[in-house]
Amino acid sequence: MRVWIDQDLCTGDGICIDHCPDVFVQLEDGIAYVAEGGMALNDPGGSGSLAAIPDRAVADVIHAAEACPGECIFIEADPPAAGVAEVDAAHADDAAA
Ligand code: SF4
Repeated sequence: MRVWIDQDLCTGDGICIDHCPDVFVQLEDGIAYVAEGGMALNDPGGSGSLAAIPDRAVADVIHAAEACPGECIFIEADPPAAGVAEVDAAHADDAAA
C-alpha cells in the first residue's frame, strides 16, 4: 500500500505525525508530507509523491487518515507487478482458444 497527502487541504495540525512518525513528517512550511526511508517526499508532493507504507505501519496510517481533519491523506493499493499483467495476457490467449 502507498500513501500521499494533498498539501492544499492540510491544516498542519500534526495529527498524522502523532499517529505514524515513520511515514508522515512536517516541514518548515508547517505542512505534512509523506516520507519513505526517512526522506520527506516533498518534490513535487501531492499525488506525485507516493510513499510505500511499511507493513508494520499500515494500521497507524489508516488511523491517521481516519483522524485527519483535512481529509487529505489518501491510501492506494500497490499497482500490480509487471509480471502479473503478462501472466493475465497469457491466460487471455488460453481463454480465447
Ligand atoms: S492530519 Fe491531515 S491535516 Fe493534519 S497535518 Fe496530517 S495531513 Fe495535515
